[in-house]
Amino acid sequence: MAYDLIVIGSGPGGYVCAIKAAQLGLKVGVIEKRATYGGTCLNIGCIPSKALLHASEVFHQTGHGIDALGVEVSAPKLNLGKMLAHKDATVKSNVDGVAFLFKKNKIDTFQGTGKVLGEGKVSVTNDKGEEQVIETKNVVIATGSDVAGIPGVEVEIDEKIIISSTGGLALEKVPASLVVVGGGVIGLELGSVWSRLGAKVTVVEYLDTILGGMDGEVSKQFQRMLVKQGIDFKLGAKVTGVEKSGKGAKVTYEPVKGGDAATIEADVVLIATGRKPFTDGLGLAEAGVVLDKRGRVEIDHHFLTSVPGIYALGDVVRGPMLAHKAEDEGVAVAEIIAGQAGHVNYDVIPSVVYTQPEVASVGKTEEELKAAGIAYKVGKFPFTANGRARAMLQTDGFVKILADQATDRVLGGHIVGFGAGEMIHEITVLMEFGGSSEDLGRTCHAHPTMSEAVKEAALATFFKPIHM
Ligand code: FAD
Repeated sequence: MAYDLIVIGSGPGGYVCAIKAAQLGLKVGVIEKRATYGGTCLNIGCIPSKALLHASEVFHQTGHGIDALGVEVSAPKLNLGKMLAHKDATVKSNVDGVAFLFKKNKIDTFQGTGKVLGEGKVSVTNDKGEEQVIETKNVVIATGSDVAGIPGVEVEIDEKIIISSTGGLALEKVPASLVVVGGGVIGLELGSVWSRLGAKVTVVEYLDTILGGMDGEVSKQFQRMLVKQGIDFKLGAKVTGVEKSGKGAKVTYEPVKGGDAATIEADVVLIATGRKPFTDGLGLAEAGVVLDKRGRVEIDHHFLTSVPGIYALGDVVRGPMLAHKAEDEGVAVAEIIAGQAGHVNYDVIPSVVYTQPEVASVGKTEEELKAAGIAYKVGKFPFTANGRARAMLQTDGFVKILADQATDRVLGGHIVGFGAGEMIHEITVLMEFGGSSEDLGRTCHAHPTMSEAVKEAALATFFKPIHM
């Protein structure tokens, strides 16, 4: 049977694309090489990391944070096995959910490794080496990404002592010490998990700041908060070697600006230096699908590769490596294939660091606006002046809104604080509709909520906040 669409990869990009295309009436099949659906995000990424972030935060709060609320408990006891089982159960319910949605939408599934054979044809090879050729009008490459190593450094990841994020979600015991190579989102989230559970965590980062690309003020404040939580940082440090040593491992680094090399030893070393697009075994070169210089599948504005009828999306193409970016692209590609006008607004893609407090951001940073020569206004409001934050003892952090100097249109929003990852969406929706800081500041917000700090920051952008 010929398909309208075969999607290779069932991560958030691929499975959303398949479901949307089926909802639009197309005959759809999905090829997945992993035993379960949902890709990196559901199996070894977003979902398991959030299960551990939540559980470890509850453990930490019970030990440290609730006394002041008048809730006295004896020191909590960690049952790591149970915590990991909670994570595994969360993953299972999510991946089973995708299997259910495939069935519900009458999407055929093929277990095995997909390969592009050129226009209108793909193959799938199962574990036994049996190959099946499938005819299809359209193909979507949604094969995601894989762990990137440290440029120029040979590292042997065994997922026990020297680990990637995958090993970092499944350590059998809490290491006494953990070195995280890379101060990006994944390193800081997993570093926080093991720090809360008792590990001494040191982050070694090449740049002078953590969360490279985030608003500078936000990243500095966030680093101060993590230092208060007991995490150490070695910034501007270039890692030149990671190797096993004794029962643990050692990391050698040298100052990026020049100077003597130093080493740091730990029970476990987490390599969290980013991810690279995954295109192995897809047969793209033979099929004539062009990659860009960074190994990503090259696409045009309509997600079309260099071969007619072959599209690509998600982590395997340009843009931020985020699940919701992949999902939105999945919807857009399905709509385009179905003859509609699919579109993604890359200027308004929120990003969240799910630590405690959370960090959330959408649109431009101050650094980006300065570099682009755009005149802007800044409105800021701290959670120390927010009644609900005080009631919950969650006063760390602030909201910052950036608006165009001439038009007052909101160009960016940045929040550090409890629940930042939820609050960012009102700024996101406002920006999607081209709203101004005055629109936001004059919108009634329920009292008492943390979101009132967003309204106050908006008021501060075009006039003055009330509660400061
Ligand atoms: P993937 O999810 O990587 O899925 C690709 C799928 O394709 C995989 O299942 C793979 O097995 C399959 N595949 C590959 N090649 C073939 C082939 N030849 N044949 C058949 N199947 C194939 N993003 C967020 O937005 N929020 C978060 O909180 C977040 N947390 C993360 C935490 C961690 C630890 C990690 C590692 C990532 C996190 N991410 C997060 C990033 C997010 O997981 C990715 O952006 C997202 O999964 C990309 O989706 P995708 O569909 O492009 O690819």
